[in-house]
Amino acid sequence: LIERMRVYGETIFAEMTRLATETGSVNLGQGFPDTDGPRPLLEAASRNILEGVNQYPPGPGRPELRRAVSRYRSRHYGIDLDPDTEVYITVGATAGIAAALLALVEQGDEVIVFEPMYDSYAAMVTLAGGVRRPVTLRPDPATGRFVFDPDELRAAVGPRTRMVLVNSPHNPTGTVFTAQELEEIAAVCREHDLIAFTDEVYEFLTFDGRPHVPLATLPGMRERTVSVSSVGKMFAVTGWKTGWVMGPEPLVTAVRTVNQFLTFSANGALQLAIADAIDNEGEWVAAQRAALQGKRDRLAAGLAETGFEVGVSEGTYFVMADIRPLGYTSGVDIARALPREAGVAAVPAQVFYDREKEGEHLLRFAFCKRDEVLDEAVARLTAWH
Ligand code: PMP
Ligand code: GLN
Repeated sequence: LIERMRVYGETIFAEMTRLATETGSVNLGQGFPDTDGPRPLLEAASRNILEGVNQYPPGPGRPELRRAVSRYRSRHYGIDLDPDTEVYITVGATAGIAAALLALVEQGDEVIVFEPMYDSYAAMVTLAGGVRRPVTLRPDPATGRFVFDPDELRAAVGPRTRMVLVNSPHNPTGTVFTAQELEEIAAVCREHDLIAFTDEVYEFLTFDGRPHVPLATLPGMRERTVSVSSVGKMFAVTGWKTGWVMGPEPLVTAVRTVNQFLTFSANGALQLAIADAIDNEGEWVAAQRAALQGKRDRLAAGLAETGFEVGVSEGTYFVMADIRPLGYTSGVDIARALPREAGVAAVPAQVFYDREKEGEHLLRFAFCKRDEVLDEAVARLTAWH
């Protein structure tokens, strides 16, 4: 293994899911739903396979899906994307993130990234030869939301800064950035001529009526923003690994140049089915959002009763919980002990930080599970504590 990748061992999701399986734990670690996506989507995909949609799709993706992506970004946000040059289909958002960082970050470039950060960002910035400049999200004393300090953001910019990486709705904190928070980021990008990279995979999973605002909709941002999203969270099919990169033609072309040699293309039969589902997304996606909001409330209440200090989750599959009121300090130790001791798996948030101390006392719990599964987890945690 090349030297700069040696610090990246097994991903925390793989480790915790293995531990959960070995111990028969309720797995609230890795974020995946335990119910299926919309029936018509599953049937369409099966039909496509049986009817012979089984050869390479075009490298940039099936035109039907690129057009459907362009339509939904226009319908929801008023963003107009040329499906031929400004939308590109990848093997999950993960491949889009990888291709974008490899395509846009030069050796030695700095990438500003809000921490805690999704694990692939750190590894891919490193693989691209870039350097991370973390800006830490911390709970706002007034609201409990994880927020950044605009001065810390500004102080992170230097002569080698190339990109700001933004994930909203944010994994693992559950923060959904407001238009005002995004404007702080946009102003920095405009002033210093930076590329923005936005990971919007949880765009349809926001709660309490909170809107998702794509950074690209802010003044002066469309031409400098590359975004990724994916089918996994939109339709509760995380194993389908089909995502899309969106942005201005020069940036998407750069991503395409790299990705054609990473995967060449993504799964064709699924792409065709997903295109249809996106065009008919309205009701199912709205119902999923409402159900998840209820699950968030259910798990948050249960965790609070157990004694955790529970964070504010405005979106995603996740809620953060502070272990200090229970008398513990190391989230890594607790996360490793919980499956055996309590029969519940969670993720230690520390692994999402460069400044590890900042997240030492936090666990991330996933609430994208059936109600009875959430109740069982809470019952086990109560018995354990
Ligand atoms: N970004 C974030 C913030 C995620 O939580 C995930 C996990 N699903 C991904 C990207 C990866 O998405 P995909 O499964 O489409 O590769
Ligand atoms: N996105 C999921 C999470 O944050 C897991 C993805 C993965 O296993 N790499 O839990």
